[in-house]
Amino acid sequence: MDTTYKSMLARVKHVLMDIDGTLVPGKGIPMLAEQWSAIKNIADTERNITIGLNTGRNIEYAARFSELLGTNGIIIGESGGIVYSCRDGSFTYLIDKGKRESLARASLVLDKYVDDAQGTKEQKKTMLSYKPPEGKTAGAFSGELRAALAAHDRSLLENLEITYSKSAVDITCKGTNKGNVIYHVAKMLGIGIENMLFIGDGANDLPAFRVVAKNGGICMAPANASQEVREYFDVLKSQGKPAYISSRESTAAVLEILTFLHEINLDRSEGKSRMKA
Ligand SMILES: [Mg+2]
Repeated sequence: MDTTYKSMLARVKHVLMDIDGTLVPGKGIPMLAEQWSAIKNIADTERNITIGLNTGRNIEYAARFSELLGTNGIIIGESGGIVYSCRDGSFTYLIDKGKRESLARASLVLDKYVDDAQGTKEQKKTMLSYKPPEGKTAGAFSGELRAALAAHDRSLLENLEITYSKSAVDITCKGTNKGNVIYHVAKMLGIGIENMLFIGDGANDLPAFRVVAKNGGICMAPANASQEVREYFDVLKSQGKPAYISSRESTAAVLEILTFLHEINLDRSEGKSRMKA
């Protein structure tokens, strides 16, 4: 990593990172054992920085993952619909009752549609995630689900947003995404977004990158970042904003960044104790 990032990283107090494609190489692809223990060691010994996750995965998975890894920050799950605090074990829902009702109504229609089409559903509390049946892309399936909802009750589409990733169709409440939730997390932690670092790899991370960059925080990505992320980072760099793409992929990139942050803080605390002595 370029040493010019060192002074920027000194202001980081909370790290948020995506899981799939960032902290782990991909869905269902674990990190190497030595990477796991290296990250766990940093999470266990780091005193100045808290580490959290920002993922589309369901919140139980994200919370459990963070417990095993020993992270101590705020865990954002379900693309911003719900957060978990490692400090007190609390879950906070971030979508209002009206929107949750829309989601519940959509679920009644779509669960049946997906079941008939032989797709599958992933259990989440604040969003709906459906995998298409074999042989069908998530993009094509998302069009079908939109049509099924519109045929049932067009007003549902006003409160909901339908997007898709490589593997699934996601239905979230309008305004809920990985970015808007960061304002809430900053409040929970009592820090500014300029003190945050976000690491992500895919198009669904763009709302988070935008909020972090707009508020003076730092954006970083692994070498496997998607084209959309690379293009956005080019824009940020042209504006003189911190946007770093590692030459390493997923977990190795996270480890590089965390190690760098950890060393800066070790230097700082050693500096402080030298000053005291
Ligand atoms: Mg990802």
